[in-house]
Amino acid sequence: MLSELSKLKEGEPLHQKMRIAGKLVGNERRIEVLNPYSGKLVGTIPKATVGDIRDAFRIARQFKSPLTRYDRSKIMLRASEILRANTDAISDLITAESGLCKKDSLYEVGRACDVFVFAANQALVDDGQVFSCDLTPHGKQRKVYTMKEPLLGAISAITPFNHPLNQVAHKVAPSIATNNRMVLKPTEKTPFSALLLADILYEAGLPPEMFSVVTGDPKEIADEMLTNADVDLVTFTGGVPIGKYIAGKAVYKRQVLELGGNDPIIVMEDADIEEAATLAVSGSYKNSGQRCTAIKRMIVHQAVADEFVKKLVAKTRAIKFGDPMDPNNDMGTVIDERAAIEFEAKVKDAERHGARLLYGNIRAGALYSPTVLDHVPADCKLVAEETFGPVSPVIRCTDIADAIRISNSTPYGLSSSVCTNRMDYITRFVRELEVGSVNVREVPGYRLELTPFGGIKDSGLGYKEGVLEAMKSFSNTKTYSLPWN
Ligand code: NAD
Repeated sequence: MLSELSKLKEGEPLHQKMRIAGKLVGNERRIEVLNPYSGKLVGTIPKATVGDIRDAFRIARQFKSPLTRYDRSKIMLRASEILRANTDAISDLITAESGLCKKDSLYEVGRACDVFVFAANQALVDDGQVFSCDLTPHGKQRKVYTMKEPLLGAISAITPFNHPLNQVAHKVAPSIATNNRMVLKPTEKTPFSALLLADILYEAGLPPEMFSVVTGDPKEIADEMLTNADVDLVTFTGGVPIGKYIAGKAVYKRQVLELGGNDPIIVMEDADIEEAATLAVSGSYKNSGQRCTAIKRMIVHQAVADEFVKKLVAKTRAIKFGDPMDPNNDMGTVIDERAAIEFEAKVKDAERHGARLLYGNIRAGALYSPTVLDHVPADCKLVAEETFGPVSPVIRCTDIADAIRISNSTPYGLSSSVCTNRMDYITRFVRELEVGSVNVREVPGYRLELTPFGGIKDSGLGYKEGVLEAMKSFSNTKTYSLPWN
């Protein structure tokens, strides 16, 4: 598919097939993918049948990978090189299918390269442990050893639209690093990056049985992805409703669920307000506000709220948004018009509940302006629910206890940002915020692709992603013991 990407520039649609163990599989039943900015056809993908899904999992389960640690590392380094060498063309594809601006899609390709480099390095690290057994009065002259093994069955992976390439990289790289076999279903909204990544991995030398990409209508095939007998683990990134559906459906399968967020930036009275406003803007609008860890609430101490809001509005005005292909723009569209209409309605609802709209809430199709509101009541829909778009709602708070109470008041618990230099505040935030991560003077989304990442409460089951943790989830630990004098 890499060689076909030039078609995009000529406005010619990509008609793609699934990659089932390296074979191109497709049928007459197609799903159209439209460019959210231009409304033009980006291309079409097949609607898999349940039989296609079964084939993919059967092949995956039966395949036993012969790859050494060195082989796996080499394949992933090669994949990262191919990605890097084709950064611009791949970012064009992401931009076409998602409406994310070029700045965002270029950044995303770089992140995916990092994922493969980290996973390549990690594949080389032996993760076994050794326990001497002569530690207690009833001990023995033995040692217990641990080793990690790939799962017996296949991994079923399901990904969302907001990072069409990097979400897929975060599933497949740890799977390769641990010698597993994965069948991935990308979202039907942005399926092309996943199909392209499969080709790149095959070109880099991955045995095709180790990674299949299937596409289709979730109403027809999602249940098979969750219940197929050849599946041992379901790894899902997406919204809470589907995550909870999976939790109930994928019975007696290991589940890694990375769900929605409602992350705050908390700005205390001692904070550097210029820095806080800069973080707020980048955390709120990057990726058109469509990151699970985007800043979705700004909880600001009342003593500095006026100054913060003034800077926030000024910095928001400076955000250039429009044609996603324009390299100077900071923001493209959101995923589709339906999402943009939803943000517009939620902002109007917040205004009805007393919030003051200071900037934005302007929509044209799927193009939605960055938007700032002040005096937002903490319980209105705009902030009580996840608003997955470029909206900056300021909620004023009175002190640290109030900030923590407001932050913890939603069902979500993904990440957070706190702007303060006071050590007593920092230690309290780290202890009392009900989240998976606390970033002091950084955006909630800050992390390495390697480091543990994930949420609690409705944001996830507490199992983390990030290359290292995903490798743990994707492995069985086997112990064996030997006599040892
Ligand atoms: P979504 O939940 O609507 O869809 C995600 C995936 O689930 C898609 O591939 C979709 O086809 C599939 N799906 C649909 N019905 C299904 C079913 N019945 N069973 C199984 N799968 C089904 O999410 P989205 O709108 O694509 O993405 C946005 C959401 O993802 C936001 O809530 C965001 O916060 C979340 N997200 C979370 C993380 C994280 O790491 N915690 C990262 C990125 C995005």
